[in-house]
Amino acid sequence: MTENRNYQLKEIKEMLLLQGEDASSLHREANSLTENLFGKSVFVRGIIEFSNVCAKNCAYCGIRRDNRKVKRYHMDKDYIKQIIFEAYRDGFRTIVLQSGEVDTYDHDITEVIEYVKSKCDIAITLSMGEKSREQYVEWKKAGADRYLLRIETTNKKLFKTLHPDDDYENRLKSLLTLKELGFEAGTGVMIGLPGQTAEDMANDILFFKEHDFDMLGVGPFIPHNDTPLKGHTSTAFEKVLNFVSAMRLVTYDTNIPATTSMATLERDGREMALNAGANVIMPNYTPQIYRESYKLYENKICTDEDAERTMELTRATVENAGKVLVMERGDRRARRDEQKQCAGTSVNRPGDSN
Ligand code: SF4
Repeated sequence: MTENRNYQLKEIKEMLLLQGEDASSLHREANSLTENLFGKSVFVRGIIEFSNVCAKNCAYCGIRRDNRKVKRYHMDKDYIKQIIFEAYRDGFRTIVLQSGEVDTYDHDITEVIEYVKSKCDIAITLSMGEKSREQYVEWKKAGADRYLLRIETTNKKLFKTLHPDDDYENRLKSLLTLKELGFEAGTGVMIGLPGQTAEDMANDILFFKEHDFDMLGVGPFIPHNDTPLKGHTSTAFEKVLNFVSAMRLVTYDTNIPATTSMATLERDGREMALNAGANVIMPNYTPQIYRESYKLYENKICTDEDAERTMELTRATVENAGKVLVMERGDRRARRDEQKQCAGTSVNRPGDSN
């Protein structure tokens, strides 16, 4: 098995710039490591985009505050609970509650988490942006398992250009707080942002490794027509695949999704990512009537399907990649603990001392 070793910046940068057969060889190496760690299993997480209301103005984002063309919505807490139970009945064991960034609904979400957790064993991931420590504590106590908060880029200057309302150090502090509070913490970046270099992206991967994040959700930069980045060029898909493979090799056993944005950029993008280091798939479980209004980037796929059709296509995607869809929670930390225990058991087997 490819060992869990420390890669240097120069090596990672070289991986990101590979082309042709050299790039294919990198993807095969990452896939081989992924299959050694997870077998053919691909964990599934259903995303529920429960609100597109946002107080922030990130330069790349289609639901940014200043985009007046977006029809804003917010789902009622009882409706959110109902959708989660439907997802549970459909076999999901992880759901992701995602929204724009406002504080208005935070306590409703606490109630949703408490109620759902009292009724069924489903992992709840939140993706609701930067909050106070007290708010993270409240959600953890209520039973939330994981939190996704993308850093988007570790180039601080670029971060500031893209996020007029945010501060890089605060974002990092939030991520570290989430880890300290015991959440499985996820982050991620955008690949191919205007002004971003291969060195920036190599540094992003080293940042993931340094802080030992559990989940790494990355997506290509795809410009949205109602944002200040309109007119910039989308990322080349090859860059995305190299990035996924490099992340797998450097960060070893993290959970890495093949994302909807990858399939938006390249039709078979998710299949390709699942053969280049990804081990998770995140179908959209948002009721169809809301999907059109949650477009962070242009031409997002899956907006005209219902949940059943999305699930059919998700299954087909995974099978086309030669993998197996697994409806388990897929916790990284629990898996690590089990592996440690197994290793301990084999070391201490009776008779081994002789
Ligand atoms: S990226 Fe998130 S915080 Fe930024 S504008 Fe979009 S929804 Fe709001």
